[in-house]
Amino acid sequence: ATPTALLVGTGRGAQLGVLIKGPEVLESTRRIDTVVLDKTGTVTTGQMSLVGVHLADGTDEMQALRLAGAAEHASEHPIARAIALGAAQRVGELPVAAEFGNVEGLGVRATVEGHQVSIGRIFDGALPDALHEAKSTAERAGHTAVVLAWDDAARAVLEIADTVKPTSAEAIRRLRGLGLRPVLLTGDNETVARTVAAEVGIDEVIAEVLPQDKAAVITRLQGEGRAVAMVGDGINDAAALARADLGLAMGTGTDVAIEASDITLVRGDLRAAVDAVRLSRRTLRTIK
Ligand code: ADP
Ligand code: MG
Repeated sequence: ATPTALLVGTGRGAQLGVLIKGPEVLESTRRIDTVVLDKTGTVTTGQMSLVGVHLADGTDEMQALRLAGAAEHASEHPIARAIALGAAQRVGELPVAAEFGNVEGLGVRATVEGHQVSIGRIFDGALPDALHEAKSTAERAGHTAVVLAWDDAARAVLEIADTVKPTSAEAIRRLRGLGLRPVLLTGDNETVARTVAAEVGIDEVIAEVLPQDKAAVITRLQGEGRAVAMVGDGINDAAALARADLGLAMGTGTDVAIEASDITLVRGDLRAAVDAVRLSRRTLRTIK
């Protein structure tokens, strides 16, 4: 291979908003046949907002918001930011949690106003009918529904909306046009994942995957003989990005994801992934 052509290729990439770590990355880009996409922050904007508070019988709305807002206050997760902000907007000043703990990929636990609070996918008892119904309806709409529980009872379902990026569907159509198979990978609920996938034209969905298991999903696909690219933005994607044959990070994402990747999509626009594949094919064709 002519190093010059490869360097020109990487230089052209920079103009397209595709930062390529080294010339050899173009070769792995050319080989891929499968593109695994993280949902939150990659296919969607990741800018979440609290759009619904659904209460169990007897739950006081202001108390639910105070406890939820305080419990999420210290978490960096986009769901936590949406809940803390949404709660503060509705109740004003939030109490301070006495104790706080993150449960990776599942939610948070905290002690607030003397109550043992959990939010996310942590509560594992049965939900009262009204909450079960609210959760299903939210998920069918593509919204993330998290359970707010305290003192061993589910008290509310909080409904969080994210937005699909306006460019995601076009990018996925063009990836298919290049012969690549898109797969949606997420820690979120299966129904939510399927709704978002349908919106952007993906039919292969792998949902409810814990952060520490995302890399194993990549390995499994590779074991089926697939050459896998992974596109992600979060700390929870870093291991999968490193494991993939090609890792692409959203430039709008975390530093950890960018460091683990071979390519950075500067503007966080999935169409740049299409540009990267086309560029690698064109560059290597020039050389051969
Ligand atoms: P993704 O793979 O889409 O980036 P995560 O692995 O970060 O998602 O989270 C998976 C799921 O865990 C979320 O959809 C949510 O149900 C729950 N969760 C994670 N963190 C929190 C939190 N801070 N508050 C509430 N729920 C959470
Ligand atoms: Mg993400």
